[in-house]
Amino acid sequence: MNTDIRVRFAPSNTGHLHIGGARTALFNWFFAKHHEGTAILRVEDTDRQRSTEEFYDAILEAFDWLGLEWDEGPYRQSQRMDLYQEAANKLLSSGNAYRCTCTPDEVNEMRERARAEGKTPKYDGTCRDRYDKDPAAPFCLRLRVPDEGETIFNDILSGNISFENSQLDDMVIVRTDGTPTYNFCVAIDDIDMQISHVIRGNDHLSNTPKQVLVYRALNEPTPKFAHISMILGPDKKRLSKRHGADSVLEYKERGFLPEALINYLVRLGWSHGDQEIFTKEEIIENFSLENLNRSAAIFNPEKLLWLNQEYIKSADSGFLVESLDSGLKDRGLSPDQLNHRTRMGIVDELRTRSSTLVDMIEGALFFFEDEVEWDEKAASKFLTPQSSRLMLKLRNELSEIDTFTSKHIKSAFHRVMDEEAVKLGKLAQPVRVAITGGTISPGIFETLSLLGRDRSLHRLDAALGRVNQ
Ligand code: GLU
Repeated sequence: MNTDIRVRFAPSNTGHLHIGGARTALFNWFFAKHHEGTAILRVEDTDRQRSTEEFYDAILEAFDWLGLEWDEGPYRQSQRMDLYQEAANKLLSSGNAYRCTCTPDEVNEMRERARAEGKTPKYDGTCRDRYDKDPAAPFCLRLRVPDEGETIFNDILSGNISFENSQLDDMVIVRTDGTPTYNFCVAIDDIDMQISHVIRGNDHLSNTPKQVLVYRALNEPTPKFAHISMILGPDKKRLSKRHGADSVLEYKERGFLPEALINYLVRLGWSHGDQEIFTKEEIIENFSLENLNRSAAIFNPEKLLWLNQEYIKSADSGFLVESLDSGLKDRGLSPDQLNHRTRMGIVDELRTRSSTLVDMIEGALFFFEDEVEWDEKAASKFLTPQSSRLMLKLRNELSEIDTFTSKHIKSAFHRVMDEEAVKLGKLAQPVRVAITGGTISPGIFETLSLLGRDRSLHRLDAALGRVNQ
């Protein structure tokens, strides 16, 4: 283990883990694994109004599903209040922080005044060196920002970024009610956890100088930063619910494989040659922050779907059967009607034609339903008196073959086709509608074989009954 590399992913439990957050988490995680460092999960739950236990659980569930294990954590900021208090006291005694008794109205006035004078609206430092403060007045703690100079930090992706100190506020680090503020907690945690690289979305860029000032005030070395580009929707606006699913667990519900989502998200903004499909091990081996794309990444749902299909194509059959079984149970159907080997056969037939596990389950439903419900349009087109003559012949052939394998079924079809001088489509399509309810299914011989003789004959009889009504 390389103890020097320590990164953290720090979600707030004010919502679900969304796609953008998951990508940030993955970049942190793969960076740590590449360097044999430590990946830490820290939940920032100090926003008492908006943080909930449900979101906390849902974030952990999302990581569980993704299969990402953290080396440390989950830490929770709400359980680390003593640490922030201690750091605030230290800053207070070193003179880097001070008590401010100005009221919110007074601070607002200062800002207005500065604005009217064309200056940066900020706290004017009134309480910095005041000795006449009322000891009983409520106070907050502010960080004393140097008046001159610059706060500079290096970003691995964007190079040096600097802010004029004169533009930065003496930010509040502990509020009047005693609670520490967001940027203060983040900096104190990053120091305490000895974070070496802060990898986060570039929407946090304006927070970074504030946090760097806390490091400086405490005489701590700053970590390296990598502010990564945002994910945009196909309309180039920041990815959000409007663009469809945006929470990781929604992708689970919609039948995505965690490996596919990971592959897609990591590849969104990171590349290694032209390779599109990566195992986790390959990403670990090749991941580097330097290869991250600096421009915004555009989310492409079709590409994600394509990748998912590729993963389903090569997924382990046992896993696909498990997914099928649980999907059937969710729909009130019993998987055991067909034995495990048959269910393996079903998923193997469907894997090449399913973009998601939900597609696969829905494509398999007809195998497990007692009666098929015919799609009206397909039935009136294909279940006709002409086709029923062919189907009846086939029915009789099928009832006589020894073993109900696709090979024997195929021969039965060919006997009817030869006798009646018809092409496969003329027979296969009506049979498909009769036994599946619609016009799309895996190969007809395999489908019949998997469905089994009894059910196949029963469904053909029902379709013949419909025609002869
Ligand atoms: N809690 C912040 C968020 O959810 C992340 C803070 C950080 O990475 O520094 O966006």
